Amino acid sequence: MEKSVSDQTTPHYDVAIIGGGAAGLSAAQALGRSLRKVLVIDAGNPRNAPAHAMHNFLSRDGMNPLELLAVGREELGTYDVDIVSGTVLDIRRTEQGFELSLPNGTPAIARRVILAAGLRDILPVIDGVKEHWGNNVLHCPYCHGWEVRGKQLGINDSDFAAHQALMFTQWSDSVTLFKSPQRVLGTEETEQLLARGVHIVEGTISSILGTADSLSAAVLTDGSEYPIEALVIMPKMEADLSAVASLGLEISEHPMGLVPYVEVDVMGQSPVPGLWVAGSLADPKMQVIMAAASGLAVGAAVNADLMAEETRAAVELMRATTVAR
Ligand SMILES: Cc1cc2nc3c(=O)[nH]c(=O)nc-3n(C[C@H](O)[C@H](O)[C@H](O)COP(=O)(O)OP(=O)(O)OC[C@H]3O[C@@H](n4cnc5c(N)ncnc54)[C@H](O)[C@@H]3O)c2cc1C
Repeated sequence: MEKSVSDQTTPHYDVAIIGGGAAGLSAAQALGRSLRKVLVIDAGNPRNAPAHAMHNFLSRDGMNPLELLAVGREELGTYDVDIVSGTVLDIRRTEQGFELSLPNGTPAIARRVILAAGLRDILPVIDGVKEHWGNNVLHCPYCHGWEVRGKQLGINDSDFAAHQALMFTQWSDSVTLFKSPQRVLGTEETEQLLARGVHIVEGTISSILGTADSLSAAVLTDGSEYPIEALVIMPKMEADLSAVASLGLEISEHPMGLVPYVEVDVMGQSPVPGLWVAGSLADPKMQVIMAAASGLAVGAAVNADLMAEETRAAVELMRATTVAR
């Protein structure tokens, strides 16, 4: 345990929350409404920021993802919640809990930390994919399947491409799976794809053509072009835990084999005492509404944990006072 470098002027919080996406802001709301003093530090780059619209969030269908967070931040103004923009670079354990190095270089002390830093996507190297990502280049049918329904869909090669191709036949009758020459599809898998009407093309996509409204073609490395209006990809997801490197938090591989994630107990507590995890970092399958729900649940659990600590202290004080009398 490190000695704190803070002094009397260092701000003290009940809880510091790393990340102000749906999970972090919901945790802040639950804690603010529990009369806790809360600090949220947010680098401002939620996973779905490239998308023009967010879907499958009841009552907010089609809202811009950043607008949802702006409304959330505004609501937090009612409570004792400070929001700082920027990246937390380092968090260390001290006698008082945790000491955070804030984006402007100053420290802050918190009794508990909630990590709600989300995941980031590494896109396949295909010209045009970055520009269209989150709109006509997509990965999740529940986010944007309806928007590309009935369109000519291309599925980019990946370990999940056959699964994605089958899935997207629910949204379109025109699905083309681009399979790299190295990828071997099983007999049963091929039968399923053909039975669902998936067109299988052997070749590797090197670029996509189109406008902001719609794609027009996938260009393969051999120069051939195939008409597509949207492209389904599988990004590689990564978790950046550099801010908590000194705390010894470990990354596990998710059972779905998709991504690294942080294993937590049923309440959201990590194996590192005092460090909790909310949102997609604890479960990469989480959609926005699930991340928000997770933030609320973890915020409530952290409030209960603080209350248990305060109760133990109150009981000790009461006993000491009784003995002294
Ligand atoms: C292209 C795309 C489109 C999507 N569309 C939808 C959709 O339509 N509907 C839906 O339900 N889901 C959608 N999703 C999934 C959605 O993005 C996630 O479910 C959601 O963002 C998870 O919320 P979160 O709070 O866990 O993480 P995030 O929203 O990623 O928020 C994490 C925040 O923490 C910040 N952060 C990270 N590290 C630090 C640090 N060290 N210091 C300070 N801040 C830090 C990040 O900058 C970010 O602001 C989409 C995903 C993608 C990739």
